[in-house]
Amino acid sequence: MTATARRANGTGALLNVEHLTKHYPIRKGVFSRVSGQVHAVDDVSFWVEEGETLGLVGESGCGKSTTGKAVLRLTDVTSGAISWRGQRIDALPAREMRAHRRELQAVFQDPYSSLNPRMRAEDIVAEPIRNFEDRSPAEIRERVASLFERVGLRADQMVKYPYEFSGGQRQRLGIARALAPNPRLIVCDEPVSALDVSVQAQVINLLMDLQDELGLSYLFIAHDLAVVEHISHRVAVMYLGKIVEITDKRTLFANPQHPYTEALLSAVPLPDPKAARKRIILAGDVPSPVNPPAGCRFHTRCPVAQERCRIEAPAMRLTAPGHLVACHLRDGEPVEAP
Ligand code: SF4
Repeated sequence: MTATARRANGTGALLNVEHLTKHYPIRKGVFSRVSGQVHAVDDVSFWVEEGETLGLVGESGCGKSTTGKAVLRLTDVTSGAISWRGQRIDALPAREMRAHRRELQAVFQDPYSSLNPRMRAEDIVAEPIRNFEDRSPAEIRERVASLFERVGLRADQMVKYPYEFSGGQRQRLGIARALAPNPRLIVCDEPVSALDVSVQAQVINLLMDLQDELGLSYLFIAHDLAVVEHISHRVAVMYLGKIVEITDKRTLFANPQHPYTEALLSAVPLPDPKAARKRIILAGDVPSPVNPPAGCRFHTRCPVAQERCRIEAPAMRLTAPGHLVACHLRDGEPVEAP
């Protein structure tokens, strides 16, 4: 299979997600009857290659974190397929999933709530090593010390508790814990959005250095386009549970094809203060995922919506090599699962 064909459908990628759907039932009444569904993620397809960062962007509540949780098997999927190194993992029993767990790790937005406050930093990082490897206490301590050094923490901080670290240091601790079992893909869910801007840059640069050094892949979930532009190789844009555009970073930022991506990018400040960009203000709020609009989900806010958009959902189309867009206004070959 040629590289182009492989890139058109993700075959052979480290992680391949096809038609992922996750609905949460809404229960009401004494008998907890299901009265509706939250359409958190609907028919989402993408892939991540070895050593690649795929940025997943969109407004809060668009389904990007649910997508990350599904990849990590922290939530069951309603339908669709998740393949890790060619093997379906979306329905694997816990015991069989354990073999893959060490390779799939996570860094979360709020390291304080994701780190056990009663454990010393050393034990937080040692825990996944103890879980997955048969090493002596001295070897574990040595490995933890080297991870501390690698993420920019000092060995004498190993005895501290999470509350004794600053926000940036806690996120470094979270990264050390994710690195401990030698993962191949890390789902980074808004890893810098709770940090000061200067600290954000340090953490992003650390993640990029680690990728270069260890060949890691990242699924990088964020709402901040500037951060996503800095770290990603490719970017997928989500709106109300669907991916609406996916392409390489340069193309997305220079030539967005979906009206929602155009609106998102119009709000990003340009580095040159003299350069002007026309701001596109979207009318209204994001509709509820309990009752998403028919047709194109973006039609209630799209500045160029047409009659057809209210009735017919747009197919994902390959508008240029590696560039997929779901919009009736764009020409291209329809793609089954990008
Ligand atoms: Fe706008 Fe229609 Fe394109 Fe949806 S399909 S983004 S509503 S033009």
